[in-house]
Amino acid sequence: MLRIALQSKGRLNEESVSLLNEIGINIDDSKRKFLSKSDSFPLEVLYLRDDDIPQVVSAGTAHLGIVGLNEVREKGFDVKIEAPLGFGGCRISLAIPKAEEYDGPQYFQGKRIATSYPNILRNYLKENNIEASIEVITGSVEIAPAAGIADAIFDIVSSGGTLVTNGLKEVEKVFWSEAVLISDGRLNAEEQALLDEILFRIDSIKISRGKKYVLMNLPKESINEAIRILPAMRSPTVLPLAAEGWCSLHSVVDEEGLWDKIRQLKAIGAEGILVLNVDKIIP
Ligand code: ATP
Ligand code: MG
Repeated sequence: MLRIALQSKGRLNEESVSLLNEIGINIDDSKRKFLSKSDSFPLEVLYLRDDDIPQVVSAGTAHLGIVGLNEVREKGFDVKIEAPLGFGGCRISLAIPKAEEYDGPQYFQGKRIATSYPNILRNYLKENNIEASIEVITGSVEIAPAAGIADAIFDIVSSGGTLVTNGLKEVEKVFWSEAVLISDGRLNAEEQALLDEILFRIDSIKISRGKKYVLMNLPKESINEAIRILPAMRSPTVLPLAAEGWCSLHSVVDEEGLWDKIRQLKAIGAEGILVLNVDKIIP
């Protein structure tokens, strides 16, 4: 039996639970208790604040955790990163009042910088030989300059909208983060086998993201041209149709640029084009 720590509420909760559900580990999130057990996989879920997840995993109270890489780096506990998960993407950036002129990182020499990420910031300042004072704030960091508490901020940015609202501009992108699966790195053979199964399933979901299954009817003479338009993972599947001179072509393709490909396929005579979602790909 493995135990995994997930964020109890907040930005990572929903996607963490749906990732587990997608890989066949049913979690009944509606009846959420502090600790709940999956009925389809030997896994127990522990719901916590995201700040506590790296520590709980490094202490071995949970074997696994899903948390932002930012929290892992900031807290500095000894945990192993098993896999990036492709959601919860954000960056931690330095931002200054909009009207200020900015001429590079040396701008921050002697300045006061407000942040909830003092350790990541301290590292950056050290690497760039900048002496600045770090003001640790846990709440709304972005109001610190207007409140006169700091000259600049070092905070999470995803779209940048909050910065603009607070009269700030992003000047240095320092740290990129996404949700990661972490472990305590001390699993026994049985636990490791369960983790390997989880990682295998997560991989198949990651490969299928942004992919579509496309099938269509096609005049036989257009097959080569269609294969050029739709390169598949190996090679597209071509099946004969009862109608003379026609075939059915199936392929898995990137969603990006799909409309352009559909236009090209129609131009070479494709008909009845179906585009389907792909759940999982096992290479
Ligand atoms: P908790 O109550 O669990 O401590 P929190 O308020 O500290 O939650 P959330 O705002 O829910 O944290 O964010 C959790 C994580 O989501 C962040 O640590 C970060 O990795 C990621 N994230 C992605 N985009 C953003 C964003 N725009 N702002 C904040 N966090 C983001
Ligand atoms: Mg938190």
